[in-house]
Amino acid sequence: MRDFALEIEQRKRDGLYRSRRLVSGPQKPELVADGVELLSFCNNDYLGLANHPGNIATLRDALAETGLGGAASHLVCGHHDAHHQLEQRLAAFTRRSSALFFSTGYMANMGVISALAGRGDTIFSDRLNHASIIDGCILSRARVRRYGHGDVAALERMLAETSGHKLVVTDGVFSMDGDIAPLKELARVCKAHDALLVVDDAHGLGVLGPQGRGSVLEAGLSEDEVPVLIGTLGKAVGTSGAFVAGPEVLMDYLVQKARTYIYTTAMPPAVALASCASIDLIEQDNARRAHLQALIARFRSGAQQLGYQLMPSHTPIQPIMVGDNHAALALSRALEEQGILVTAIRPPTVPEGEARLRVTLSAAHSEEQLDRLLQALAQCRSLLPEQTAQEPVAV
Ligand code: PMP
Repeated sequence: MRDFALEIEQRKRDGLYRSRRLVSGPQKPELVADGVELLSFCNNDYLGLANHPGNIATLRDALAETGLGGAASHLVCGHHDAHHQLEQRLAAFTRRSSALFFSTGYMANMGVISALAGRGDTIFSDRLNHASIIDGCILSRARVRRYGHGDVAALERMLAETSGHKLVVTDGVFSMDGDIAPLKELARVCKAHDALLVVDDAHGLGVLGPQGRGSVLEAGLSEDEVPVLIGTLGKAVGTSGAFVAGPEVLMDYLVQKARTYIYTTAMPPAVALASCASIDLIEQDNARRAHLQALIARFRSGAQQLGYQLMPSHTPIQPIMVGDNHAALALSRALEEQGILVTAIRPPTVPEGEARLRVTLSAAHSEEQLDRLLQALAQCRSLLPEQTAQEPVAV
């Protein structure tokens, strides 16, 4: 216990200590955290569907119909008609042949990657991929080669010098930077070097592409070009769970091999039905995406005018780069004093020396609320040393 306590103390000294807030009530921009109402720019409910009254009603009805828990794993007797319906809906939405529903995105990445690669194979992974991808790579026991962020030329060199079974894995939208992977180029080099491309579009689904179908369809890529597409439902879809979509034979294979699919209790079927309702809304309602895009543009121009350094992102993930861990914490605290909640993201979630405030925008935010964030940022600008205010970054 003493060693654990010492490590915790060291983390506090380094500005790396992580603590949780106690939220009460729903996840909305107006968030009650530790008993205080704050204006939140932290969640991933990009379209504001987590509190959609119609979806809540669907969930309530579905609970009455299907009960509370999943009660068994899919391969025992937990695979419910509701899960099947959602899988078909997800396949149609992402324009793939079939889909398989997982309990979380973390489990989808762990299960899919470790099922599709093993000892003797090589996985190529973008340096900024999500932790669940990194852990899936470790679990697979394959050789892992990381390529520089978005560096397709470096990846191509690595692919050319590697033989055997090859898997390339990338986030579609990078979770801490908000930029989009060069998907077309990645698909091209994967095809040229006979590598299987896996894209985790957790943050693109619902937000990007025609009718919110995601970054892969925004890039116009077919199932043949991106055979393994992973998506999560806890972000823009506003519910919970995740899926992989692709050729039927792949789903069949994953049902045999993906341990995080096989050895876990199926999600409550009611959540699957609520997710179907949410996907209907995503497909029909372009107004939410248009409002979100307007907020993103307004935030970028306002924050850049204040001299904050942003990333080249046109997604709802808009990090304010700070650098030092303590400075990021100080900026987050100063915003909180003004009633605004934006969490500081520090290593190991981001590389050393790249601490930041990760602003996330949602269609649930109003223009007035966004302006409150900008006003608070104006008040706090002097907290950051001059050198962090660099040239505005163009998207
Ligand atoms: N992939 C990416 C890119 C993510 O950002 C996240 C979660 N933040 C996940 C997967 C995990 O998804 P889930 O929260 O459903 O476990």
